[in-house]
Amino acid sequence: MASQIPALPQSITPRTGSVFSDQSGFYALDSNVPGLSKLILSKLNMKDYGEYRAAVQEKPKGVTFRNYKEMFQKMEDTFKFCTGCNKIPEHLSEQQTLKRCVKCLNVYYCSKDCQRKDWPQHKKACTTLRLVAIDRLVEWLMFTGDLPFPTEKWSKSPDEVKSWNDWMPMQANLTAHLSTILSGTNMATLWKNAVRPQPNEADLRGSLWRIQSEFLSRVLTVGMAIRRFGLDPYAKPLTIHLAGASHNETMGARLTDYDELNNMFPKHQGIEIVMVGPEVVDGPIMRPPLVAFGPKERVYISAFKGLYHQFWEAVEEKKDAAKPDLVVGFHPGFHANPGLLEGWLPTLLLLRDFNIPSLFTMYSEMELKCSLEILLELEVHVRDSGPNPFTSQKPEQVQSCPNKAPVYCNSHFIRFQGLLPCEDLEGSVPTASSSSSSL
Ligand SMILES: [Zn+2]
Ligand SMILES: [Zn+2]
Repeated sequence: MASQIPALPQSITPRTGSVFSDQSGFYALDSNVPGLSKLILSKLNMKDYGEYRAAVQEKPKGVTFRNYKEMFQKMEDTFKFCTGCNKIPEHLSEQQTLKRCVKCLNVYYCSKDCQRKDWPQHKKACTTLRLVAIDRLVEWLMFTGDLPFPTEKWSKSPDEVKSWNDWMPMQANLTAHLSTILSGTNMATLWKNAVRPQPNEADLRGSLWRIQSEFLSRVLTVGMAIRRFGLDPYAKPLTIHLAGASHNETMGARLTDYDELNNMFPKHQGIEIVMVGPEVVDGPIMRPPLVAFGPKERVYISAFKGLYHQFWEAVEEKKDAAKPDLVVGFHPGFHANPGLLEGWLPTLLLLRDFNIPSLFTMYSEMELKCSLEILLELEVHVRDSGPNPFTSQKPEQVQSCPNKAPVYCNSHFIRFQGLLPCEDLEGSVPTASSSSSSL
């Protein structure tokens, strides 16, 4: 039975506002909720972060569950601690049990007292956390293949599609696709085994869309970067590098994941996506990058496991891969700590000195501001920045601080290229608000 259970739901992967993907980040969960990192590991029958990482990368050998009920139960258990006093189950007295907030079915409390004291903070987050609790179960349908659902050929030119509001009307079959998933067997299996009642249909449709939007947000952000840099996929094949591709991005990645670019630029000359990052997960995309001329009218995905500047030394400098026309980084997070910045520094300087059109995304306006400061210190020429019109619609809960304002994948972006011109060094410094000059 265990071997038939689709892989570990992504929601188990600990993610926070400033998303970490390394050991120090994982254990930082404990600074808010002492013992939370251990709790997660014990629920997944693992001894340390290394084993957790190995299990995530080499599914399904590491994590096995006897049945779906156990899988959903253990997943939910990783969210079980008192939101008031941060106690985890093993720190409770014998009379105490953790009870869930009945409104959101997301956060837990050890006592009425803790719940009452936390309410002024929690009431601001409760409505959104209700959606998050649904999403973290429905997200499992990404692993069963129900999501993402197919999308349509674009009926408008890319220049006319400036946001989700322009994209949505082109999806004539959206309702039908959602209905198919809603009545599918995996949806039924999910709610038969989940540790909570099934939400109503409108809630489930909303959730399916939010999860799909997170997936599409990455492709449409790449499309936006192509458009804003004035790159022309009809004039020549384009090579696009995704620097710092994470395990979340590459786990379960399929060769068709960027096909929305075919809908966006029908009959293009060929687009190659190269995912590069130390956490790239093995799978069908793990194949060498193209040296030149990708297959016309198709998106070709390849991957390299390593830091971006290492990829450059090992592959680009030996001319074993085409030079990038564009480099995109989803949530590089180099502002988060000196260690991460150190890892990114050679890449940032490389992008600057080779004058490569680049676009990075962030989880929040605060991250945007911090990242801008670093890029300006490096005298990188920032072309524009601000809220991303193709931000994910799915709120992300900060696992160890549920009442914190949720963040959204790719909610903000910075577009930059080359070295800051001398005359710009004084005076007109671009800021977070000098945004969205559309080409
Ligand atoms: Zn408590
Ligand atoms: Zn609540």
